[in-house]
Amino acid sequence: MLTVCDFCSELILENEIYFCVNIATYSKKSGQNTLVLPEKTDKEEKNVVLFNLKKATEEELNNSVHKHKKFDLCKTCYQKFFEDPFFNY
Ligand SMILES: [Zn+2]
Repeated sequence: MLTVCDFCSELILENEIYFCVNIATYSKKSGQNTLVLPEKTDKEEKNVVLFNLKKATEEELNNSVHKHKKFDLCKTCYQKFFEDPFFNY
């Protein structure tokens, strides 16, 4: 299966190192406590935490908007992303 950089569309060659970036966003009201993210696990999908369901109130859940995106980035784009995540270059 071919892997392509999601930013520059360059083909990532076999055995070439590339980087997976998982971004999770959720809505939050000012004044709420910060949700605590659990330690990373060895399964990639578990690196992204949706919500702490046990602690969330029904209202918080109803008003929450969660989005998750995953990107594959080549080494060059990953370095740019890490230096400037909002792509101001
Ligand atoms: Zn790239």
